[in-house]
Amino acid sequence: MAKDLYEILGVKKDATDAEIKTAYRKAALQWHPDKHKGDKEAEKKFKEINGAYEILSDKKKRQQYDTFGAAGPGGPGAGGFPGGGGFPGGAAGFDFSGFSDGASNFADIFETFFGGGSRSKAKRGGPIRGSDIEASIKISFEEAVFGCEKELEIAKPGVCEHCKGKGAEPDSPIVTCKACGGTGEIRSVRNTILGQVTASQTCDVCGGEGRVPEKKCKVCHGTTRTRKKERVKVKIPAGVDNGSTIRLSGKGEGGIKGGPSGDLYINLIVEPSNKFVRSGSDIHSEVDIHLLQAVLGDETEVDTIEGPTIIKIPPGTREGKVFKISGKGVPGMNGGRRGDHLVKVRIQIPKKLSKKEKELYSALAKEANLDLKKGGLFW
Ligand SMILES: [Zn+2]
Ligand SMILES: [Zn+2]
Repeated sequence: MAKDLYEILGVKKDATDAEIKTAYRKAALQWHPDKHKGDKEAEKKFKEINGAYEILSDKKKRQQYDTFGAAGPGGPGAGGFPGGGGFPGGAAGFDFSGFSDGASNFADIFETFFGGGSRSKAKRGGPIRGSDIEASIKISFEEAVFGCEKELEIAKPGVCEHCKGKGAEPDSPIVTCKACGGTGEIRSVRNTILGQVTASQTCDVCGGEGRVPEKKCKVCHGTTRTRKKERVKVKIPAGVDNGSTIRLSGKGEGGIKGGPSGDLYINLIVEPSNKFVRSGSDIHSEVDIHLLQAVLGDETEVDTIEGPTIIKIPPGTREGKVFKISGKGVPGMNGGRRGDHLVKVRIQIPKKLSKKEKELYSALAKEANLDLKKGGLFW
C-alpha cells in the first residue's frame, strides 16, 4: 500500500496551499540530504517529501490524486508510489522529472521559497524594453495656463555608433565566453545553515549569451550603448498645473535587441506668479480701491491672465468682497470648462488728508450723526 501524500507532509486532507507549503518547507529542511550525509533512509524520505509536495502543490495534480489516488487515472495499481522502490520516475500519471534528484534540485526549491537567484532563462537574450526616463521642466504661470512648446535636452543611452550596437570592435570575431565556457551560466556553491547549496547565475561577462567579442568595442566597452544627448520637443497643453506629468511615449531609453523604447516622463514645475494665485481652474487676484470708490461705487481696472479688464464696484462694497469675472480662468484640460477669475477687493483708507479733505470728512461725520471725540483725531 502506497503511503498517503498528506501523511508524508503531515497535513490534513483539507489543508490549504499555504499549510502544505509550510509543512513541506519544514519537512524538506529536516530531511535535506546535506544534513544526513550517506543516510539512505533520509534520502528516501526527502524524495518522498518532494514527490508529495510536487503533487499537492499543483492544483490539478492534487485534484487528480484526490480522485484517483496514487496510481493516477491511467494505471490502477502502478504501485510503490511515491516512496517505494521504484521511485523516481514512471509513477503513472505524474511527471517527476523535476525532482528526479532531490539533492541538486534543492537549490531551485530553496530559491523558490527564499526568492534568491536569477531564474531568467526564458528571457535570456530576448528583446528588452528600454527604461523610462524622468525629467522636469520649469514653466511660467502663463505658460501653464495657455500651454506652450518647450525643448529640453536629455542624456540617454543610445546604440553605439562605433560598433553599430554589436559591442565588438569592427572586424573583431565573436568567440565563446571563457568565463562560463559558453553556457551563459556561472554555478556557485554557497554555504548556508542547511549545508551547501548550488546556485546558478547568469554569466556577467557575456550576459548569459555564452559568446563574446574577442575585442570589445573601445567606445562603449562592449555595452553596445553610449550616452547621447538628445533634444526633445514637448508640447505642453493649456491648463496644466504644478506637478502635472506629461508622458512622451517611446522617448525614453532605446530598447535592447529590438525591444521597444521606454517612455519619457516630464514633471512640470510651474513658477508662481506675482499677480495671480491658482486654485484648480480658477485664478485669484486682489485689487485695491479707494474708500470713496467703495462707498460711492465706481469702475476699476483688474488684471487678468488675458490682460486688463474693467469691473463694476457697486456703492457700499465691503472689504474682502470677491467679484467673479467669468471665463477668464484656466482653460479646462481635455475640453473641460474654463475656470473663472476671482478678484478680491482691498479697501485703501487714506492715511493723510489735506485740510480741505479733513473738513469734508468731518462734515460727513456730522451728517452721519457720528459724535466723534474732539471732532476726530485727525485735528
Ligand atoms: Zn559567459
Ligand atoms: Zn560600441
